[in-house]
Order: sequence, then structure tokens, then C-alpha cells
Amino acid sequence: MKYVRFEAQGKIAHGVLAGEIIQELAGDFFSHSDLTGNQYKLAEVTLLAPCQPSKAVCVGVNYRDHAAEMKHELPKEPLIFIKPSTALNNPGGEIRYPAISHNVHHEGELAVVIGKTAKHVKAAQATEYILGYTCANDVTARDIQMLDGQWTRGKGFDTFMPLGPWLETELDPHAAAIKCLVNGQIRQSSNTGNLIFRIPELVEFITQVMTLNPGDVILTGTPSGVGPINIGDTVSVVIDGIGELKNTVVAG
Ligand code: MG
Repeated sequence: MKYVRFEAQGKIAHGVLAGEIIQELAGDFFSHSDLTGNQYKLAEVTLLAPCQPSKAVCVGVNYRDHAAEMKHELPKEPLIFIKPSTALNNPGGEIRYPAISHNVHHEGELAVVIGKTAKHVKAAQATEYILGYTCANDVTARDIQMLDGQWTRGKGFDTFMPLGPWLETELDPHAAAIKCLVNGQIRQSSNTGNLIFRIPELVEFITQVMTLNPGDVILTGTPSGVGPINIGDTVSVVIDGIGELKNTVVAG
């Protein structure tokens, strides 16, 4: 099932997408919610990020090929960091290129959307806490990330976390082709089967430390091929079985 969050006729709503038609839900995806009977055409609404995370827990260096290109050792445990909720961006939204950076990179990633409060969840039970999956771009000011030696500033700019275009509940998250394109040219191409740490293990690792709330996301890491984006570029993250998350880059 595809869940969408959207704006239409001046209001924000949630719905179920089938083909080109959105059936509006009375509530959101996180609680059982009836259809209102209202329908919208996909082309007539503005899609929003499918969830509004209180935090995004992101995994660094979770593909072997990306570890090699960044000259990182393979991690023995997941390396996690947080992107702030204020970095959230919508499908079709503008990524604002900060004036204080000169090397902003795309990082196409599979995002896991948490469906219910998760604390001390074992890997074997992890899927019970996952509502679905969406595309993410872990936009990174690489120069600032390297300068600081830790990642909060380089990855925390407003607009640096596009999510979307919708939440897909039916995906096999360890067998999906993932690509990132800039102006239509393929920059990253891999498969989520190449994750070093798989999703159930990540849920257990993270929830030993912090509670994941409904709508929180786990960004599972990026494959090789990260590189610069510039003002005027269009950047897409495409995951087979989900769809395309497309954003443009504008001056901050
Ligand atoms: Mg990343």
C-alpha cells in the first residue's frame, strides 16, 4: 500500500494512493483511520514528506563500496548520527545551498518509517514496529562535515532531508535497486541487499539507546558514488518498488 501526505485546497491530509487516485483518510497512517470518501487526483495535489519525524537516526558507512570511497574502515557496529527534524524537505521541494559551504553532496538512501513507539526492540520483532519505507536524500555539506570531524553541522542544514514521494508498506527492504541521479545522469546505483547492517539489526541497535516514535525515520546509509550538487541542479533518488524523490537545488 502507498500512503501519501499531501496538501490540497488549502488543507493538509493523509491518504492511500492507488494508481493516480488518492483516497483521503480521516486521520493519519499511524492509527487506524477510516476513509472520508473524498478523492483527489495525484496530479492535483502537492505531495508532502510522508511523515514528520521527531528525529532521523542515520547510519553512516553502511555500504561497503561507500566505505571504500570515503576511505573508512568497515565499521564493527553501526555508526549512527541524527539529522534534526528541521532538515525535513518535501518531494519537489527546494534544497537550499548554504552560503557557508562549497561542497554539498547528494546521498541517496532507503528510509525506514517507524509505525509505533519502539524501545528495546529485538531484531526478531523489528518488523512489527516498521510501517513502511520511503526514499531519502541525506544531503551533506561535505566540507563542513570533514572540517568539524563530526557530522551535526554538515548534515543538519534546513532542507537537507528530502523524504518521499510516499510511504510504501509492501517493499522487501533488502532487495531493492537504489539510484541517485543528478540532472538525469546516474551518480549512484546499488541495491539495498548490499547494506552492511540490515534493518532489524539497526532497529535493535538504535532502540537500545533511544525511543523511536511513530513517524521517526532511520536513514539506512548511502552506496558509493556520492558527489557534488550545485545550484540549478535537479537531484532524484529512485528506489524500485517505491518511486522517485525529486528535488531542485537553489541558493540558500
Ligand atoms: Mg548518509
